[in-house]
Formats: sequence, C-alpha cells, structure tokens
Amino acid sequence: MDRNAKIYVAGHKGLVGSAIVRNLKKRGYKNIITRTHGELDLKNQKAVEEFWREEEPEYVYLAAAKVGGILANDQYPADFIYENLMIQNNVIKAAHDFNAKKLLFLGSTCIYPKNAPQPIKEEYLLSGFLEPTNEAYAIAKIAGLEMCKFFKRQYGDNFISCMPTNLYGPYDNFDLKSSHVLPALIRKFHEAKEEGKPSVEVWGTGTPLREFLHVDDMADACIFLMENYNGEEHVNIGTGEEVSIKQLAETVKEIIGYKGQLLFNSDKPDGTPRKLTDITKLHELGWKHSINLKEGIEDSYKWFKENY
Ligand code: GDP
Repeated sequence: MDRNAKIYVAGHKGLVGSAIVRNLKKRGYKNIITRTHGELDLKNQKAVEEFWREEEPEYVYLAAAKVGGILANDQYPADFIYENLMIQNNVIKAAHDFNAKKLLFLGSTCIYPKNAPQPIKEEYLLSGFLEPTNEAYAIAKIAGLEMCKFFKRQYGDNFISCMPTNLYGPYDNFDLKSSHVLPALIRKFHEAKEEGKPSVEVWGTGTPLREFLHVDDMADACIFLMENYNGEEHVNIGTGEEVSIKQLAETVKEIIGYKGQLLFNSDKPDGTPRKLTDITKLHELGWKHSINLKEGIEDSYKWFKENY
C-alpha cells in the first residue's frame, strides 16, 4: 500500500483505533485522517456524507463502535444495537458511495453463538443462539459483517472484516461499571493495594475461560489484513491461548503485587463459559501475535499508572 494513501481511522480515540493510528505511523503511513466524536457524529448520516465529500478517504478502518463489558451490554441493549447499526451503516454506505478502495470492519468473538464448538472457527457465525447478555451488540455487529460481505458480493467493494478476541491495552476503559474484565481487575487490584484492602471482588465464579490479545498486536493484525487479505469471509484475530478468570485474576494480582484475597461473587454473571478463537486462517495468511499475556498486562498496568 502506498504510504501516502489517504486513510481514515474511525474511532481513533478508542482502544483499537488509537493502536491502529500508532501502528500506521510506525509503518510510515503519512496521510491519516481522524475526527473526534465532537467533530463528527458517525450516527448522523448527513454529517458522515459531508465528511466523506470533503476528505474522500481511500482506506477505512472502521474501529468506531459502542462497546462495553458484560454489565453495560446487559443494561443498555437499546443503545448498543441502535448506535452500532447507525455508525456502521453510515460509514460503510459512504465508503461505497464514494468508491473507497478498501474498508476493514471490526466484529468481535462475542458475537459467535453462545454454545459454538471450541475453538471457534469463522464458519460458526450464525450457527446457533447468541449469548443473551450481549445479544443487542451482537446483532448489530453481525449486520455489519454481513453488510461488508454483501457489498463485496453485489458491488465488488473491497470491504473485509475481522473478529478480534477480548482486547486490552493502553487507552482501555477502566471504568468499573462498563469495562471488560482485564482493565477492571487492574484497577481493582491497584486500588486495593493502595488502600490496603483485605480482599478484591471478582465477578462470577472464576471458571469462565477467555482469550486476551494486546491491542498493539490487534492493530498489527488489522494492518496486515488491510495489506494482504481480500476474502469475503471474516478472519479471526486472537492468540489461540486461553485462561480462566481465576488464573487471570491471580496473574494480575501478582503483577500488581497485591497480597490480599480474591472473593468470587457468583451473584454477578459469568457470561459465556468459554470463548476461544480458532486462528488457523490468520496463521495461514502469515500473521501471529507477539505479545504474551504477562508482558501485555505489565504494559497495560504501566499505562494505567501513568495515565489514570
Ligand atoms: P465477556 O467476555 O463478554 O463476558 O465480558 P467481560 O470482560 O466483561 O467479562 C468476562 C468475565 O470476567 C465474566 O465471567 C465476568 O463475570 C468476569 N469478571 C470478573 N470480574 C470482573 C470485573 O470486575 N469486571 C468485568 N467486566 N468482568 C469481570
């Protein structure tokens, strides 16, 4: 790809978008366009069209989305379905209308069926019932993936999509009510250590299994796909390695140096029991992650201490 190509990163303030911008700059891409939420409301079709008319981006990373952890998804389903549908419809349609050369849409492994066989292959999408705690988000994201597929099929637009596993890293959401588990645990253990608390509450039973990918690896994979993949089917992005929430909590506890107890609160939901991606396709395309979980958590904790 031409290093002067005009690239729009939608959602550049977020966890993934900010990592994509860092990685693009590192690779020497010079013409990166961004807009803050205040400058451009992606839910507003007219505003998106005006932005496109003005900038005509050639390549689009669609990393703007309303995201949140298990509780936020459960409490605000209307917002999750509406906002995500609006954002993606507007951006994908504008990219089509203005002949963007390529667009990468981001799904998430949490939109696969709740009881999908593990590890989850790309083809399992839409093969069963969804996890009820994030159904609204999933329906919107599935619509986005399908939309890219159908625009490619009907119009020949080069719109591709990927399915990242649970992500974490710099610029994560550390708000305990809406965050995902890893940033929540970093914050909880850090604060418990600072305040000398005897225990830290971990939601659920600790038995669910999850896979975690550092967002710098995620960004690298996104740019790799933009440069090398043109298929109709989405591509899973993950490490292929999983840990239980209990193991995760113990790892975070050790990295932070907290000495107290873990208290599992089973009144809080566990969510889906296991969520591991099959990353055969990504590996065959020639990309593999490079940051292991311990290094990644250390990096994320460093960012948290410096910025939060
Ligand atoms: P999920 O991967 O979509 O289920 O979303 P989360 O990252 O929010 O939750 C993953 C698992 O971690 C669930 O079983 C949660 O109950 C568990 N968990 C344990 N402690 C926490 C916490 O403090 N915050 C969150 N969000 N999840 C937690």
